Amino acid sequence: MRRSIIVLKYSEDNRYTLVYLSSILESYVASRRGVDYVVSRDPLSTVVRAVESYDRVIVMYSLMTPQIFSLIEELKGLRQIKLKYGDRVMLIAGGPHAAGDPRGTVCRLGFDIAVMREGELTLPKLLDEIVYGDLSQELEKVPNVAYRDSTGRVRETWFSVWREPHGSGPYSCRLNMSAPVEIMRGCSFACKYCQTPRIYRFRVRYRSICQVATQCRALYRRGVRTIRFLAPNGFGYGSPDGRTPAVDKIEKLLRTTYEYCERNVKLVLGAFPSEVRPDFVTRQVLEVVSKYVDNRRLAIGAQSGSDRLLRLIGRGHDSHCVYEAVDLAIEHGFTPVVDFIFGLPGETERDVEDTVKMMRELARRGCIIRGHTFMPLPGTPFEREPPGKIHPRYLEALREIAELGRLEGYWREQEDIARKIHEYITSSSLVV
Ligand code: SF4
Repeated sequence: MRRSIIVLKYSEDNRYTLVYLSSILESYVASRRGVDYVVSRDPLSTVVRAVESYDRVIVMYSLMTPQIFSLIEELKGLRQIKLKYGDRVMLIAGGPHAAGDPRGTVCRLGFDIAVMREGELTLPKLLDEIVYGDLSQELEKVPNVAYRDSTGRVRETWFSVWREPHGSGPYSCRLNMSAPVEIMRGCSFACKYCQTPRIYRFRVRYRSICQVATQCRALYRRGVRTIRFLAPNGFGYGSPDGRTPAVDKIEKLLRTTYEYCERNVKLVLGAFPSEVRPDFVTRQVLEVVSKYVDNRRLAIGAQSGSDRLLRLIGRGHDSHCVYEAVDLAIEHGFTPVVDFIFGLPGETERDVEDTVKMMRELARRGCIIRGHTFMPLPGTPFEREPPGKIHPRYLEALREIAELGRLEGYWREQEDIARKIHEYITSSSLVV
């Protein structure tokens, strides 16, 4: 019998995604013969050893765009091994970068296959093709992938997603790790800097309350006592159109989970690693949420204090909405942690002044300001825009806010990464 091994690249930066990915791979290998699976921080060394013992080695990465620059040398090494062993070594990438730039993932980063979405649905089919199929055939039976066809052209297969995400979970035996519980996938808003809605073509889907509560109970039985919910918009759960809060669904989700976990867990909704849109921070939502959740911080996405810029970037709310959300959150006992993005495309001196004014005012009201620098991510309408630069007026305001102890964020590091992303996107040279 031919033997294959899957090597999953581990990195601390996307450990939560890797928990879900690993749970898919663990189920896959448990139901197939002749396939082993390992997780490796150093896939290069693992692959060098594995090609001695296995007929096929499948190396998998989950990529976020800011990560690719630290992986170039490793990917070059894997490409060299690939040149020597041909299709005995297959390189697969998924994650937001592969979804946003499938062609570049294949042509420039040297992967054989980019998985663009819905790993639970795509990976078992793709791995079956690689492990048991005939790789001289096209991968056209596998949805959601990009690859080079026999003529060398990059082909993208059809879009396919489930009505409700399932088939992966927030716990990996192999990693011995748990992750926040995903309750929602995709987004129906269209902020021009964001990859999330575009990966799933603006569809928003929710895991069912029963599925979420069952996963939480499984975590609880493993000893987890703080359960964090993961969503692009934490208060968006269950919204039929994804654009207005569904208070009854949020309440049912929280109550059911709490009861499934014997009323003995701390629930975290709307805080790291999720945030909430300000237009979803209503009195009704807060009254329900504050009955169940343990977090005192609420992460609210403002992004800019300028109404003109908020319109330009497609946020779908104005600055007044941010002030209202913050006041309501404080009234309900939360500390708002408010996100801002500096150097957005089209930002004028006037926009900077409006944002500085809002940040100072929010800090004065008791908020924490969390700063980000605009990064031109592939697959977004802003992908070819110049990288964000931090205006001196922001630096001045940030210094004052830092003195109040009300500042967080990695905007300095992101300024450097944004420049590298821009260089990568606007050049067409081979990287690997
Ligand atoms: S609301 Fe959030 S997830 Fe949705 S498009 Fe805007 S930034 Fe992205």
